[in-house]
Amino acid sequence: MLGLTGLLACRQHVEPASGPPPVPPPCGGFDWPVGPPNASGYYDAQPFGGLEAHLGEDWNGNGGGDSDLGDPVFAIADGEVSSARHEGEGWGNVVRVVHRCGDGGEYESLYAHLDVIAVELGAAIGRGTPLGAIGTADGRYLAHLHLELRTRVGAPLGRGYGTSSDHVAPSTFIAANRP
Ligand SMILES: [Zn+2]
Repeated sequence: MLGLTGLLACRQHVEPASGPPPVPPPCGGFDWPVGPPNASGYYDAQPFGGLEAHLGEDWNGNGGGDSDLGDPVFAIADGEVSSARHEGEGWGNVVRVVHRCGDGGEYESLYAHLDVIAVELGAAIGRGTPLGAIGTADGRYLAHLHLELRTRVGAPLGRGYGTSSDHVAPSTFIAANRP
């Protein structure tokens, strides 16, 4: 007869350690910028790279069109707001966040085409902090979030497409660096 104590012991059973201890993810871990948890309700309509050399990912609501207009956009990791302003035609409102990870690693995430901006320059934020809302870049596109993740902090805005050794595929990086 397995009593309650036995059940608890089973649940707390831990496999013997093997190999080196896991390396903690930088900055306490990264998460997707929409639809917590795990980008639920959203899809990446234009992945990183490809024929057009997209330097980011375009996150859209599963409902398509402007169904995601006004939905919240969240910081993908702990950091500091390094820019929060309108960047002109094609970009609309853009928030940039610098992630200094303490292990020497530095990253900058960029959230573009926002309908509204909800944070101020210099603000210290945590992973999951709302940064603003999904927008259309002043009516130029159907609503979506253009997300970039850069390994060089403070680089010029660029134009969202092209070849760059300073950009990484956000989803690939996030998936490999979960909290
Ligand atoms: Zn894009």
